[in-house]
Amino acid sequence: MSANNKSLKHRLSHDTDREFGGTLGAICIPIFLPLTVLFLICTSRSPQAGLLQWPPALPSTDQLWDPLAPVLLLGWIALHAFLYMLPLGKVSEGLVLRDGTRLKYPINGYHDLCISAVLLLMLLGLGVPLGYLFELLLPLAVSAIGISFLLSIYLYIRSFWAPLHGLALGGNTGNPVYDFFIGRELNPRIGNFDLKYFCELRPGLIGWVVINLGMLMKEVELRGSPSLAMILVNAFQLLYVADALWNEEAILTTMDIVHDGFGFMLVFGDLAWVPFTYSLQAAFLVVHPQALTWLKAAAIVALNGAGYYIFRKSNSQKNLFRRDPTHPSVAGLETIATATGKRLLVSSWWGLVRHPNYLGDLLMALAWSLPCGFSHLLPYFYVTYFTILLIHREARDERQCQAKYGLAWDTYCRRVPYRIFPYIY
Ligand code: NDP
Repeated sequence: MSANNKSLKHRLSHDTDREFGGTLGAICIPIFLPLTVLFLICTSRSPQAGLLQWPPALPSTDQLWDPLAPVLLLGWIALHAFLYMLPLGKVSEGLVLRDGTRLKYPINGYHDLCISAVLLLMLLGLGVPLGYLFELLLPLAVSAIGISFLLSIYLYIRSFWAPLHGLALGGNTGNPVYDFFIGRELNPRIGNFDLKYFCELRPGLIGWVVINLGMLMKEVELRGSPSLAMILVNAFQLLYVADALWNEEAILTTMDIVHDGFGFMLVFGDLAWVPFTYSLQAAFLVVHPQALTWLKAAAIVALNGAGYYIFRKSNSQKNLFRRDPTHPSVAGLETIATATGKRLLVSSWWGLVRHPNYLGDLLMALAWSLPCGFSHLLPYFYVTYFTILLIHREARDERQCQAKYGLAWDTYCRRVPYRIFPYIY
């Protein structure tokens, strides 16, 4: 074994601060979160929609299983895999890997969204009852959970054939339960097909807005036309998904792609958690219609607009700064030098709080819940969960930045004392 490989092996087994509660978390989360998805869907359609109620009796097998669901889901994934491989859009390179190479990624997620939209409109034109997704929601979620487990097992097994430099530093503790959960291989690929990059933004994220559309069509079936609340929820979330796919290249520098292995945590998050819990507001509105005045709607649109503005401006500013620090729109900003040669922005958006992009995201999350009124807690599940997720993610990122930048990071934290919410946190 070469000296390089020896030192890498040492880092793989020792650079591992276990996250998400270590082994206990890795046992509990894969049991608890899938049950939570099913609980939330059942609750969203129950008359009382009470989040604090005792979990309702487990649905019957008929309600949980429909052979159409796995067929639809596998067909959906196959469609996006096909679109991924079409020679559309540009090809970008990811960051430099530990072996000095860079992987290539097709930037055609937005094309995928547009083609999917055209196909859906054609299906609607042909009279396909998209509202049936409401009835199929539980079986679809069960199938997505099953597929997440199967894919994670495949990823875990194949990681033992991956080269040492292709393994994620945090996912190789030697504890099979933890490594299965957190992910061993950094960029698992079949030929040029990158499994993690594909799952991150396509089947689940586009699936989310398709489920929303299905809920809107169900409302049309039930009440003749979509409500203002349903239109707002659909429009806000479509804007969010379209924005993510329009800016797909930015994902190449995120923690998920650069740092985390591809294991159950990301697979389940991408394929089951996002589409089936992020669409809860739309599912809730089917059974619990809400009257919304134009004035309230205008205030909610303004809140979503403000959140989106902060989110997009701050993300774009940092991405541009990382790609081209000499660009005229970022060259004049105040920065701090670090020992790595990279600089940290300390003015404009990144001088307001240390994660302005999270602040904007959370304002939007609140705007997605408000159209559902104040009679139930369930529509606020997303904003509550997302606040916890982003606070946890912020802490993980701070740890990594502190390890990367040391004293320079401490200086940044002194200059910009608030993490997400100005003067609060
Ligand atoms: P960020 O885009 O915030 O990236 C964090 C990285 O940015 C740091 O590791 C550091 O990396 C760099 N950085 C931090 N501070 C500065 C600074 N002052 N100047 C320059 N660079 C800095 O992380 P995420 O990937 O967590 O978030 C991306 C977006 O995705 C966010 O808007 C977030 O809200 C959203 N998101 C949404 C989720 C959802 O489920 N809807 C889930 C997770 C995220 P380096 O220095 O190495 O470049």
